[in-house]
Amino acid sequence: MDSLLIENGLLITMAKGSDPIPDGVVVTEDGQIVYAGPAAKAPQQPADQVIDAEGGVILPGFVNAHTHLAMTLFRGAADDMPLQAWLEERIWPAEMKLTDEDVYWGSLLGVCEMLRAGVTCFNDMYHIPAAATRAAIEGGIRACPSGVLLGFLPNAKELLAEAKDFVNQLQQQAHPRIHPMLAPHAPYTCPDDLLREVVSAAQQLQVPIHIHVAETADEVRDSYQDHGQSPVQYLDSLGVFDCPVVAVHCVHIDEQDIQILAERQVGIAHCPGSNMKLASGFAPLPDLLASGAIVGLGTDGCASNNNLDLREEAFLTALIHKARTGDPTFLPAQQALTMATRESARALGLQDLIGTLQPGKRADIIVVDMSQPHMQPVHNPVSQLIYAAHADDVKITVVEGQIVMRDGQVLLVDEQEVIARAGECAHRLLG
Ligand SMILES: [Zn+2]
Repeated sequence: MDSLLIENGLLITMAKGSDPIPDGVVVTEDGQIVYAGPAAKAPQQPADQVIDAEGGVILPGFVNAHTHLAMTLFRGAADDMPLQAWLEERIWPAEMKLTDEDVYWGSLLGVCEMLRAGVTCFNDMYHIPAAATRAAIEGGIRACPSGVLLGFLPNAKELLAEAKDFVNQLQQQAHPRIHPMLAPHAPYTCPDDLLREVVSAAQQLQVPIHIHVAETADEVRDSYQDHGQSPVQYLDSLGVFDCPVVAVHCVHIDEQDIQILAERQVGIAHCPGSNMKLASGFAPLPDLLASGAIVGLGTDGCASNNNLDLREEAFLTALIHKARTGDPTFLPAQQALTMATRESARALGLQDLIGTLQPGKRADIIVVDMSQPHMQPVHNPVSQLIYAAHADDVKITVVEGQIVMRDGQVLLVDEQEVIARAGECAHRLLG
């Protein structure tokens, strides 16, 4: 049995109603949490590995509920452009040239960045998902991979068949860190017959659907023109919400849409950084939360963010919705942290596995250093994590009970090689 003990930290389990536990301890066995609580009550048997949190905070890893990981290759290559021009002139032409190696090295670059920032799980939608899956497995992170389906491609039907095979193979492999999904890109890029086929495939394979929804005002206008209803209502009419769904963005939605999303318990991936950078707008987060909708956080791809630091999305979420509502009490730090961990896990349908540090859950854990000047003094550790921390305050990242990042060093891959190889891929793709 492979065991790990993390001690000497302030334990924030993110379990509902829990308070921070001074002198907290987490014990894991074979990738599973067996104890999370005060040191005084911890089991006494010796562990194979011991981590001294050195007075830092021990908490669940951040869960990135939406990205296109290998877009790290396009980071900074097409900034300050409108969404459609950005996609049609820059991104899609470069993506047509992607090879397995490009997606592998681009994804591995993203894995290194996320593990350093305390992100232990990501929900990916991209081309050649087997390459991203290989990167996730080798880098030691948890992933929800899916192959993006674009209905306007001549081989859209083949891509769906491939996506089904991909899910099938992963289900047979049953890797403990890999949780595949099906990913039609968006209602405006996938015709209704393709979406219906995705629904039946998702039901047959018992996997969630990952899809962009109502990202821009133009999308909603076109949806009313083409279908006489909003994107959310249109997807509902096609039976998409009969499956577990991760709906990304949900920026331009009305009261009826919010009611549907809440009633159908759709997992929403709120991506405020991307929405602001592409000037898509502001999701009506206060109304979504008031309706009981499940809202997690995502970074989106690196071409529209430009990083994978999920804590920064929590920071942005807390700030922009205060400014939007004119209410400084809206979305306190505790709630922002909940969205970055427990609620993101719930949005992905992984709430039984991750998102909190509780016995029975998988051991996806981070330790954050609180000793640096920008983190001192500590009046409220949760406020510090949301409003003051930097990505490199994360000192330890554990996924599935394995230490995969320590003191800024990713441990399972050669980061310098990853940076060099990803750079070569990026230059070949973009010229
Ligand atoms: Zn996206």
